[in-house]
Amino acid sequence: MTLAYIALGSNLGMPIKNLRKSLEYLSQEMLIQNRSKIYETKPYGGVQQNNFLNAVVSVETNLTACKLLKTLQTIEKKMGRVRTFHWGARIIDLDILLLGEKVVQKENLQIPHKELLKRAFVLIPLSDVHPQKLFGKKITEWISLTGDSKNVWLAKESW
Ligand code: ATP
Ligand code: CA
Ligand code: CA
Repeated sequence: MTLAYIALGSNLGMPIKNLRKSLEYLSQEMLIQNRSKIYETKPYGGVQQNNFLNAVVSVETNLTACKLLKTLQTIEKKMGRVRTFHWGARIIDLDILLLGEKVVQKENLQIPHKELLKRAFVLIPLSDVHPQKLFGKKITEWISLTGDSKNVWLAKESW
C-alpha cells in the first residue's frame, strides 16, 4: 500500500456537502487515513467566482498513478462535474498531490502536483495531515513562501 495525499475543492452548490460526498466515494475505493480541517479560500487565478472550500485527505492505496487519476475523475463525473474552463467554478475537484515517493511526468499527469508548493490553499490543509517535512522544508515554510495565506482561513474543524 502507498500513502497518497489528495486535495479536494468545491465552490458550487453546497460545497460542504460536496466535500463530504466525495469523501464517501473516495472511501469506497481506498482507505482514508486522515482528513484535514476544512478551509475557505478566495478563488485563485483571478477568475470571478464563489469562494472555495478546500481540504486534503491522506489515503492508503494500491492503485497505480494512472488508475488513481481515473478513479478521481470517475468520482468527479459521478458528482456531476462539468468542465468549463481552467480554474473555473466546480462541484468538486480532486487532485493527486503526492503518491508515496513516486514521480510522474506525463502529459496528463504530474506527481507531485505541479502547483503544490505555490498554493497556500493546498499547503495549509496538507500541513494538518502531513506533519513531516516536504522536499526538505517544513510545510509552514512553504506556506509563508507562497505569500498567500491571507486568502485561506479555517471554515470548519470537523466534517
Ligand atoms: P490545476 O491542475 O491547476 O489544479 P484543475 O484542477 O482546475 O487545475 P482540471 O481541469 O481539474 O484542472 O484538470 C486538468 C487535467 O490535469 C486533468 O485532465 C488531468 O489529466 C491533469 N492532471 C495532471 N496532474 C494531475 C494531478 N496530479 N492530479 C489530478 N489531475 C492532474
Ligand atoms: Ca486543482
Ligand atoms: Ca483537477
